Amino acid sequence: MNNSDTSAQFHLVRVNAPAGPSPHLHPDIADFWNSLDRGQLSIQRCSSCETLRFPISPNCHECLSPDFSWEAIHPRGTVNVAIEAHEAVSKLPASGISLSDPWRGMTPYISGVVDMDAGVRLPGRIVCRCGDALIPGTEVNAVLLGAAHNVTIYGFLHECESTRSTT
Ligand SMILES: [Zn+2]
Ligand SMILES: [Zn+2]
Repeated sequence: MNNSDTSAQFHLVRVNAPAGPSPHLHPDIADFWNSLDRGQLSIQRCSSCETLRFPISPNCHECLSPDFSWEAIHPRGTVNVAIEAHEAVSKLPASGISLSDPWRGMTPYISGVVDMDAGVRLPGRIVCRCGDALIPGTEVNAVLLGAAHNVTIYGFLHECESTRSTT
């Protein structure tokens, strides 16, 4: 397999689903989100001990090295655990602060954590109509989703929804 085959394999498809909230783009994690604009999901690889690092951090959790490079990972993974949110609250109970539309527009939706074949566990929304994504061990693939303010985020797609793919 040559390099061009590998990068094509790691390319994420874009999926039509209701837009969710957009992330806070702190400079330390901006490169993670920028890699999605290039159609890839990239994780930190420690330059010292080669650990694939997640959550994103300025230092390796294994050896504390500050040195790393960004590495595109394969989009395939399996569900570790997932829940279905049927309804979004419109106000936060303690403060009374109103939540913005993205949350309400998304429901019902499935949210979970996925064990990526690459060896990291990532949180995210899972687009699935049949409900199998709620079962641990179900295979899903990382995809690109739209979010508020035209930001691209990642999520996951179960095969039952593969007709939603647009690219
Ligand atoms: Zn390290
Ligand atoms: Zn499904």
